[in-house]
Amino acid sequence: MHNVYPLLMSTNFPSIYRDKLKIAQINLGYTCNQSCLHCHVNASPKRTEQMSLEVMRLTLNFIDINEIKIVDLTGGAPELNKNFKFFVKELSSRGCHIIDRCNLTIIFEKDQEKLAEFLKNNEIEIIASLPCYLEENVNRQRGNDVFEKSIKALKIFNKLGYGIANNLPLHLVYNPQGPTLPPDQKTLQNKYKEYLKNKYHIVFNKLFVITNMPIARFGSTLITKNQFNTYMNLLKDSFCKETLPNLMCKSLVSIDYLGNLYDCDFNQMLKIHMGDGIIKNVRDLSKIPEGQKIAIADHCYGCTAGNGSSCGGNLI
Ligand code: SF4
Ligand code: SF4
Repeated sequence: MHNVYPLLMSTNFPSIYRDKLKIAQINLGYTCNQSCLHCHVNASPKRTEQMSLEVMRLTLNFIDINEIKIVDLTGGAPELNKNFKFFVKELSSRGCHIIDRCNLTIIFEKDQEKLAEFLKNNEIEIIASLPCYLEENVNRQRGNDVFEKSIKALKIFNKLGYGIANNLPLHLVYNPQGPTLPPDQKTLQNKYKEYLKNKYHIVFNKLFVITNMPIARFGSTLITKNQFNTYMNLLKDSFCKETLPNLMCKSLVSIDYLGNLYDCDFNQMLKIHMGDGIIKNVRDLSKIPEGQKIAIADHCYGCTAGNGSSCGGNLI
């Protein structure tokens, strides 16, 4: 796989600084039951990296010290961490709102039969990737049978009350198939809602459209296809300064499976450490201060193109 980091280091992206820290996005490991083409963490069934129980306990201390009340669990498939349920229970006992970045198909894996009910019983918000409402497009990006299994999983979640009850939000995530910007979020959400309801009787709350980041597997594919520079130019030409105050890195910290801290999940993948360049870890038990400089590189233009992009969709 190509290393995109040297192509991103030199940047004229504007300086940005932290606001109050509100969200911890925690990567519980890179193991996944899928290996999607656009995956920015290169997750797959072959990856074995997992957050240990010791790092989980240190992360809980870090959450307490920083008074974080929203925790966004990601991976890989976060549920494949063998201490996933322990961690969720600890977060719940602290009154944290928990988000699970669920790939849907995980609930059909061995030993995950009770997962959907567990998520429901702990009132965990689900954000699930479904990069198209058409079978062919989803399977091309995420693998054979993924669409069929995803639809089956969404029906199970609906049956449990997800996407219907106020305390069980179910959001879907769209990302483009190739090196283009996502379409208008609201228009696409309406299309998804109409199609999934009419064809499969599936309901959900919101659709988040996310711009593909020119890093990891997707970035490497761009290089292979000689499309890297064209895509970077598209992101830069579409720069929208109104997105800057809402960038997710201003209020989020990303924690990797070893407990290292980053300004966002993308920086985690590029091993770009927090603003001052000193490697920080949950072991340091430090409070992340407001006003701290955020570490940037050229991939940041992926967050500011068009209506902006974040793990919660558009920024404006
Ligand atoms: S399901 Fe998510 S984490 Fe797993 S390979 Fe696909 S994009 Fe990556
Ligand atoms: S890539 Fe990360 S650091 Fe850069 S703007 Fe986006 S969220 Fe912020």
